[in-house]
Amino acid sequence: MSSKITALKDAVRNIPDFPKPGIQFKDITPILGQAHLFQEAVEQLTFPYQPGDIDVVVGIDARGFIFAAAAALHLKTGFVPIRKKGKLPYQTHEEQYDLEYGSNEMAIHTDAIPKGSRTLLMDDLLATGGTAGAAVRLLNKLEVNLLEAVFLVELDALRGRDLLPEIPVRSIISF
Ligand code: AMP
Repeated sequence: MSSKITALKDAVRNIPDFPKPGIQFKDITPILGQAHLFQEAVEQLTFPYQPGDIDVVVGIDARGFIFAAAAALHLKTGFVPIRKKGKLPYQTHEEQYDLEYGSNEMAIHTDAIPKGSRTLLMDDLLATGGTAGAAVRLLNKLEVNLLEAVFLVELDALRGRDLLPEIPVRSIISF
């Protein structure tokens, strides 16, 4: 592992039993708060793409927004949010999913992305893959060209990438 990735990994703070007993919560806010780490995280997440390679970066509610919006600026693309159900004001597609802690429904605006757009999906963390799986189903409804799903952190033991068989999955840090 390169020293830059090690620095990112070392900055992730483990919070036992949050938000429920038994969950090891990976707190990425120490990365956000240090300019060189936040910058490095965005560079790793967007590698090897250059401006012009991607049309849109999609971020998943809520921590995914932070990285996806920064990545979109980095790649000079638009940013599109996938939000918890009931938050988006216009017409939406919706998908249900199970979480490591609970279940939920999320949504995307029906006109958010033109068909065939070269799209990156981004979130802070891949755990069971339920959230990202639902995001992929939403993007499939819009018939985008989904190039990759990228995560800052992956919890390997939960095998979330098994729920995303049809797209390339990449993560920067593994636990
Ligand atoms: P999953 O659907 O199980 O892959 O969960 C991924 C989503 O839930 C991401 O949006 C994460 O922000 C959040 N999440 C799940 N488990 C954790 C965890 N252990 N630490 C931090 N965030 C988590």
